Amino acid sequence: MNAIRVLDHGEVELITHAGGDESVLRSMLVSTGKDTSANFETTNPIGSDDDEHVRRNKGRINFLMRDHHGTPFEHNIFTFRVKAPIFVLREWHRHRIGWSYNEQSGRYMELGSQWYVPALKDVRKRVGKAGSYTYEQMSSNTALMFLNELDRVCGHSYERYKVAMVNDIAPEQARLFLHVNHYVSMYATCNARSLMNFLVLRNDPAAQWEIREYALRLENIFAQQMPVTYEAFLRNGRIAP
Ligand SMILES: Cc1cc2nc3c(=O)[nH]c(=O)nc-3n(C[C@H](O)[C@H](O)[C@H](O)COP(=O)(O)OP(=O)(O)OC[C@H]3O[C@@H](n4cnc5c(N)ncnc54)[C@H](O)[C@@H]3O)c2cc1C
Repeated sequence: MNAIRVLDHGEVELITHAGGDESVLRSMLVSTGKDTSANFETTNPIGSDDDEHVRRNKGRINFLMRDHHGTPFEHNIFTFRVKAPIFVLREWHRHRIGWSYNEQSGRYMELGSQWYVPALKDVRKRVGKAGSYTYEQMSSNTALMFLNELDRVCGHSYERYKVAMVNDIAPEQARLFLHVNHYVSMYATCNARSLMNFLVLRNDPAAQWEIREYALRLENIFAQQMPVTYEAFLRNGRIAP
């Protein structure tokens, strides 16, 4: 799959997927010995609802989701390559269970010259009280001043970062000039169960808009790769099993 653009310089790319909806069925059916090929009713749970096997298998996946039998959703794998601002990855890395991460190193390499600057329409102001904040678009004059200043300061900091390394400051210390909106890349691997927990929390209006943009892309990929599981996820109120 090609990289999907997110924010101004970010990307999401599905590197590997294995297992699919079939892995959910097989791991469920092992409990009654019906998982082996000879007994498995269909290798493809996706198809016409007129087919009795397809209907039954969709019903099985729906039952697992509805009754929170979560473990059969763990026998599959998604590996994503994600390029995102550091503050987005910081939120992402709070998801500990069923996720593996490897991240670009600011110790071993020089980081690229890209930092997140929101689009003018995406600059927001916060209104309301703690616990019930809402966000509104910021007036364009204030937003423009903010964006220009942000880009200027980040550009200056990046220049200082490079100069420090030219002067033999170790990259791991030179990077202290950089900001939380600096872009870095990571590999993130999870299974459908951990992915659903992530989507519930991060593709949600309460989540910060920037990580939500990433979660939205992941949700689309999940829907494509595991359509029956995804349908059951929606049908049962988008609750991670
Ligand atoms: C809108 C929003 C605002 C947030 N604000 C803050 C904030 O202000 N400060 C802050 O620190 N974090 C904040 N977070 C991060 C949040 O607290 C979680 O760390 C993050 O969402 C990961 O969720 P999780 O623990 O469900 O995921 P995972 O770590 O992937 O865990 C998955 C599930 O495993 C179970 N689990 C994991 N660890 C344990 C454990 N130790 N004991 C028992 N069960 C466990 C739970 O059922 C959990 O839902 C925020 C998150 C969101 C979405």
